[in-house]
Amino acid sequence: MVVAPPKHFMAPSDAHEVAASMEVARHKLEEVRSPMASPGTPLEARVTDKFAFAFDIDGVLIRGGKVIPEALDAFKMLNGENGYGIKVPYIFVTNGGGKTEQERCLQLSRQLQIEVSPGQFICGHTPMREMAEKYHAVLVVGGEGEKCRQVAKGYGFEDVITPGDIIKDNSDTTPFRKLTEDEYKNSRSRNFNEVEIEAIFVFADSRDWASDQQIILDLLMSKNGHLGTRSENFDEGPPVFFSHNDVVWSTSHELTRIGMGALRVSLEAMYKAVTGKDLKTTAFGKPQIGTFQFATRLLQRWRKDTHGIDSPPDTVYFVGDTPESDIRGTNEFNKEAENSWYSILVRTGLFREGTTPRFSPRATVDNVLEAVKHGMTREYRNALRKAAIESSSAVESIEE
Ligand SMILES: [Mg+2]
Repeated sequence: MVVAPPKHFMAPSDAHEVAASMEVARHKLEEVRSPMASPGTPLEARVTDKFAFAFDIDGVLIRGGKVIPEALDAFKMLNGENGYGIKVPYIFVTNGGGKTEQERCLQLSRQLQIEVSPGQFICGHTPMREMAEKYHAVLVVGGEGEKCRQVAKGYGFEDVITPGDIIKDNSDTTPFRKLTEDEYKNSRSRNFNEVEIEAIFVFADSRDWASDQQIILDLLMSKNGHLGTRSENFDEGPPVFFSHNDVVWSTSHELTRIGMGALRVSLEAMYKAVTGKDLKTTAFGKPQIGTFQFATRLLQRWRKDTHGIDSPPDTVYFVGDTPESDIRGTNEFNKEAENSWYSILVRTGLFREGTTPRFSPRATVDNVLEAVKHGMTREYRNALRKAAIESSSAVESIEE
């Protein structure tokens, strides 16, 4: 599937425009031959156009709502506090979600003590906005309260239905779940006999698996998404989309916790048990190639708008903690991308000492600061090597 960053989502703020025009001017003035300014020479850090970083968030920068301390130093280093006199562009690619991109970026800005813009941020459900043109009435599952309804509305979905709306209409739908006072008040009253639900989107983690799964199952077995109907062959229901497929994730608990991927497995198993048929579902997020293509375009736009750089970076360092999504996705995308995508696994998240990850990273390091150092050192060595080759070939041509 081809996904492109939507225009309004990518719109730069005034600050970026100023920064962009300054950088364009700077690039015109400076014809710099070396990809890394040598230590000691520059007075002011220059933005490198040779490489960039992409970060997973949970287990890399944040764990259980708290910042992983090394993350603060990692961003200082990327923003110019390093021995190379450079700044390095970066983006964030998380499978998490449940709030708007703007909200999440504000929160991240506070936590990391840097400015994070929606123009450098992708979460699991970001690509779902492109489905708003295709589907009119949709069921949106997961997240806190009304948040995901608001996210979906913001994406342009016209008719957004929540499990709460369905329970409010018919409380017998879920025998063991009663709506709270707030839920009842926020849920919309409507006549579901007249509604055809065209698609199901799991935006964020379900807060009540049993009732959410009951409602999803009802729709999957329905005739064309009409609640209260049953398809004879169970093959007339709407499609289901998940914003990612991570079975477990890293939180403040010492052991991993089950996530959306587990709900997906559960739903598929339940559908099979009830109908005898296999259920096909679609997941977005990492490791899907579409998400990395989306990230490529986001990074391209971000570097152009804020740094005035118009060519793709030679290397993107992707730092993550989940082999199945971060490392697998980066490695697979590296095979098809025109530039190099270099996977780095950190030990601050899902990593367990003494185990071998199913998908091998190019490097494994203790934390995100070490990941940034690793990438920058590698770039510096490559630059030196390249300069040495160039000067030796120059000597050769003189000798000839
Ligand atoms: Mg993670």
